Amino acid sequence: MEETEDYSDIRLKSWCIHCGDSLSKVGWTEDHVPTKSLLQKPRPHHLPVIKVCPACNNSFSKDEQYFVTFLSCVMAGSTDPEVQFIPSAARALRSSPSLRAAIENARSVGPNREDASPTWSPDVARVHRVILKNARGHAFFERGEPVTDAPVSIIAVPLSTLSEQVRVWFEREAVQGALASWPEAGSRLMHHIATGHDMLGGWIVVQPELYRYSLEKEDGGLVVRSVIWNYLATEVRWMDT
Ligand SMILES: [Zn+2]
Repeated sequence: MEETEDYSDIRLKSWCIHCGDSLSKVGWTEDHVPTKSLLQKPRPHHLPVIKVCPACNNSFSKDEQYFVTFLSCVMAGSTDPEVQFIPSAARALRSSPSLRAAIENARSVGPNREDASPTWSPDVARVHRVILKNARGHAFFERGEPVTDAPVSIIAVPLSTLSEQVRVWFEREAVQGALASWPEAGSRLMHHIATGHDMLGGWIVVQPELYRYSLEKEDGGLVVRSVIWNYLATEVRWMDT
């Protein structure tokens, strides 16, 4: 990603974008968006960093480790640390037998063992917390204002499970949305669109093939989508932001 100026209003940085606590009271720590371990080294130089309260940051780290490790295991088709695509997942599987066991237990084979390929059932609450954390971070980073409301929906599904029609809608709406809604002149989103840097269609590419996201206004609400490792499609939707 290209280094760009920080457009967000300094006054809005005084509160944790996740819980709303005053950072001057509870202190703050820097949090990478998206989750850093989803990216590969060498990582982009200027990853978005957001100030959040220490309590939120701590609460995310276990969920992020679970999410990244689960994703890696599903893509590898195994909980064996030796065959993981994501290095931090391999480390987590080696160092935490309980995490490995939990993910192993999430794998099941259909009743007809001959032809059924295994499926993996994640801890949905944990996955959603990570998706929401990143979506809030993207929204704040791009628009310069936090979205502290609870979303109306969070979706995380493998891209391959989307029907062709839904896939086209998922991929294309971002392009149309980016053009249909007019970002504020000074916003980072406007900068992306104006310069074309890091853009692919309506998507902002953090690292090619590994992480891209899009924001759009829809019916007065906000929709943040991401595609992770070209495997997982996510969407977080808020009303009336
Ligand atoms: Zn917080």
